[in-house]
Amino acid sequence: ARRAELAAFTGPGRTADGHPVKLLLNVGEGDAAAGGEVDAEGVGLFRTEFLFLDRTEAPTVEEQRAAYGRVFAAFSGRKVVVRTLDAGADKPLPFATDESEPNPALGVRGYRIAAGKPSILDDQLAAIAAAAADHDADVHVMAPMIATAAEAAEFAGKARAAGIGTVGVMIEIPAAALRAGEILAEVDFVSIGTNDLAQYTFAADRLLGELGPLLDPWQPPLLDLVAMVATAGRTAGKPVGVCGEAAGDPGLAVVLTGLGVTSLSMSAPAVPGVRAALRRRTSDDCAARADLARRAPDPATARARVLGG
Ligand code: PEP
Ligand code: MG
Repeated sequence: ARRAELAAFTGPGRTADGHPVKLLLNVGEGDAAAGGEVDAEGVGLFRTEFLFLDRTEAPTVEEQRAAYGRVFAAFSGRKVVVRTLDAGADKPLPFATDESEPNPALGVRGYRIAAGKPSILDDQLAAIAAAAADHDADVHVMAPMIATAAEAAEFAGKARAAGIGTVGVMIEIPAAALRAGEILAEVDFVSIGTNDLAQYTFAADRLLGELGPLLDPWQPPLLDLVAMVATAGRTAGKPVGVCGEAAGDPGLAVVLTGLGVTSLSMSAPAVPGVRAALRRRTSDDCAARADLARRAPDPATARARVLGG
């Protein structure tokens, strides 16, 4: 019965009063091309790490071009946001990261690798641009682990020089959330990675299950940072997405929409529940619930307030 109820809603994400919220997919290895069958507006996070795993050196430009092309073909006519390599910390790679770092989550990971090993990023951007030219998906690119507006500007310069038209960065470090306006001045969009943003906001390793309560995406301080970024996006007139696990929780999707987030990217199975939750709420109701969640003293209260009544 619940499946039938969810299946009653199809098509683009929107609230009961018609406010659009793009519903996008997080894809990685294997599920990427199959995701083309899903009723979603495209891909909000294409994790490219899988291509680089179990190797002693980076894949060639041609190899990458073919792999990205398979995903772009599956999403022809739709948006695909490719994230450049996010190696390090929970995703170590022998040729890119230094396993002797004492604190890998605080080390040379994500975009930071480009400073010492620029060819990995340069080759990847060249491959993405070449694959985009081969297909008619609407290809966007974004960098992980951006901390400053200067890094965002540097990445945007490289991506545009490679010929990629739409360039963004992830907001997953609190400093970047605090300065989202300056970052948005350099790029076309941002996407909030709530998994890492929670880790760095609470100084709690995302791999440690016992710290789960601190990493709860309903944490009001995390919602405060999302609100700051969404407000900066509205001021700049640029999109602000969420692509961390939070985006796939129907109750949180309502809250994130109420905070002003413009797209939600999630695993394919989460899409119907999020779509249905948004269709049942007006944008004013989303905003009121977002306010209740932010004012809550803890995640359990935030959840209870939003889901009740
Ligand atoms: C995140 O940090 O929220 C995110 C989407 O990226 P990943 O989980 O791959 O670090
Ligand atoms: Mg991340």
